[in-house]
Amino acid sequence: MSAPTVQEKKKVDLSRLRNIGIVAHIDAGKTTVAERMLYYTGRTHRIGEVDDGNATMDWMDQEQERGITIVSAATSTEWRDHRITLIDTPGHVDFTVEVERSLRVLDGAVALFCGVEGVEPQSEVVWRQAEKYEVPAIAFVNKMDRAGANFERVLEQMEDRLAASPVAAVLPLYKDDEFVGIMDLIDEKAVYYADEDLGRTYHEEPIPEDRLDEFQSLRDRLVQQVCEHDEELFEKYCMDEHIEPGELRSALRKATLAREAVPVFCGSGLKNKGIQRLMDAVVDYLPSPEDLPPVVGIKGEDEEVKRTHTRDEPLAALAFKVVTDRHVGKMVYVRVYSGMLQEGTYVYNAENEKRERVGRLMQMHADHEEKRERLEAGEIGVVVGLSDTTTGDSLCEEEHPIVLENIEFPAPVLSVSVQPSSRADRDKLLNALSRLSDEDPTFTVAYNSETGETVISGMGELHLQVILERLRREFNVSPAVGEPKVAYRETITENSAFEYKHVKQTGGHGEYAHVVLQVEPLPAGSGFEFEDEIKGGDIPKEYIPSVEKGIVEVMAEGIYAHSPIVDLKVRLLEGSHHEVDSSERAFNKCAKKAFREAFTRGKPRLLEPVCSVMVTAPDEYSGAVSSSLSSRRARITSMEQRGERNIQVVNAMVPLAEMFGYSSELRNLTAGRAEFDMRFEHYEPVPRSIADEIVERKREEAEQD
Ligand code: GDP
Repeated sequence: MSAPTVQEKKKVDLSRLRNIGIVAHIDAGKTTVAERMLYYTGRTHRIGEVDDGNATMDWMDQEQERGITIVSAATSTEWRDHRITLIDTPGHVDFTVEVERSLRVLDGAVALFCGVEGVEPQSEVVWRQAEKYEVPAIAFVNKMDRAGANFERVLEQMEDRLAASPVAAVLPLYKDDEFVGIMDLIDEKAVYYADEDLGRTYHEEPIPEDRLDEFQSLRDRLVQQVCEHDEELFEKYCMDEHIEPGELRSALRKATLAREAVPVFCGSGLKNKGIQRLMDAVVDYLPSPEDLPPVVGIKGEDEEVKRTHTRDEPLAALAFKVVTDRHVGKMVYVRVYSGMLQEGTYVYNAENEKRERVGRLMQMHADHEEKRERLEAGEIGVVVGLSDTTTGDSLCEEEHPIVLENIEFPAPVLSVSVQPSSRADRDKLLNALSRLSDEDPTFTVAYNSETGETVISGMGELHLQVILERLRREFNVSPAVGEPKVAYRETITENSAFEYKHVKQTGGHGEYAHVVLQVEPLPAGSGFEFEDEIKGGDIPKEYIPSVEKGIVEVMAEGIYAHSPIVDLKVRLLEGSHHEVDSSERAFNKCAKKAFREAFTRGKPRLLEPVCSVMVTAPDEYSGAVSSSLSSRRARITSMEQRGERNIQVVNAMVPLAEMFGYSSELRNLTAGRAEFDMRFEHYEPVPRSIADEIVERKREEAEQD
């Protein structure tokens, strides 16, 4: 083992860590701003322009081409002797699960808005997600160089649309209509950025004479806003005493951490202005792990365990992202909450109860990976070598188990079959799919070895589209893709029995088997039960498993609508055998036939997956939301007003089959201002009139196969 570096020997100073993410509407300039942050901190040697498709944070080819950031990667950098770890968060609505995943592990957020477009509907969606995780935030109004940018308007929108309490800490500075820099309301300085070196250097000057009045009145506003959160300062303010910049900053920090204020900065990522002040703000106002309440987990059944953010407690770490890298292999991104991860030691995965060896540890930088021997409480890094760990797993010590609150992933809603174009492609496809589903808990793969059909399921059309593109680019397979489908099931509604004798006499050995089967419906979710009631060896013991196996095989294929059969009990009542002609094979065949008949006589019924759907939308859209849900066979279970922000929450139970195209319909219906969450709940009978049509279709499909 190599000697520890100086950094490894000394304890990580928690107060100097900032784990942050930039949350933004797509196109607000997140990648551009993140790039500048990394550039000014000296970690990247040249600026990767998004428009050239060269940005450091955009790892995948595909992202670069689409210009959207899908994968959250945690990149560390240094600023003012603090380590800032930037967790990239995607802005596209179909990938909100990625946003949630990163919000779970970051401590503070930079909310990014476009100075022209302001607080866009999607900014509201991501903002609400950040609120859910109670993440303190600062804001950056980007693109101040564009015509029509309006800083004050964005502040108003933050108040109106987000119900936030923005505190402007800077003002934009224009010269002959050109955006040249910012005025710092706390330090009372005008800051100009050099054009020659991409804004790396800047100089400060007094506030320009012609802006002094405006500056003073806005500074008064800031002082007043900040003092409201600090009694001592408030007194000083009332006495008209001078308040030092340092005092303002520490009061504003307290208010930000308490989520009572959002300090707002502005600039232009593209024109290299205002970014250093934003970095300062990350250090000045966003929390360090020391500022956080203890992390809460569960031990055993439901015993609550708390861990403070220190390396002196037992290990508690959360795997929040898994990436398979062509060179490195499986990389598990972890957030260490307490204790430490050490290279070469064993950790206990409290989720799957397995012990795994920590291979290599790394901290990711924009342009290189730094090898680490330990990752301590408060740190975010990568573990290589954990083959059984997946997203959401907790890592700890076996003697001190803890399951951290898991990330809630919505169930996949859309499935399509994928068919490799050649036999040679089949293994490649399955291998690629298993890797991709490892990385992404909202993406699942099912392979039916009998039909050879592979079905992939995900969160929406774009999600599956991205997966298919990744298959093509990264794994070089382009399967044929089927129509999106819902998984139906079938069951019976009445008891029924059938007697069948399987007899064949064609020279030599004949075939003989005889069973009487009774089928009975079971409550939803009960699955399958089999009861052997044969007495006195009418059917010898060795043939019973063949009877059950025959039934299970038919259940998997389905009868009524060629969908898997669930929720019934089969009783093997009677039967007989023949000394010579009976065999396992004969009983298997006989049971299949008897079961098919008994089932068909039991009045079969089609079942469909039903989801609970929660739509959150501004009040004015609630009528449109509920009528669109009703037209999709929804049962609206509740409608409630949330908070003082005029947000209406509509809860409904809706058949999954009716939810195709819903996210785009909802987006259109509400100008993108609604958010919806959909979870599979259970199976329910399909109304007869609709069932007939589906059954017909499924039968036709089965005949074609
Ligand atoms: P993301 O989708 O939020 O990551 O946004 P990008 O960083 O990819 O930026 C989207 C587009 O806005 C790109 O064409 C950028 O060049 C452009 N852009 C980003 N920041 C600025 C800015 O400050 N000013 C102007 N005028 N354009 C910007």
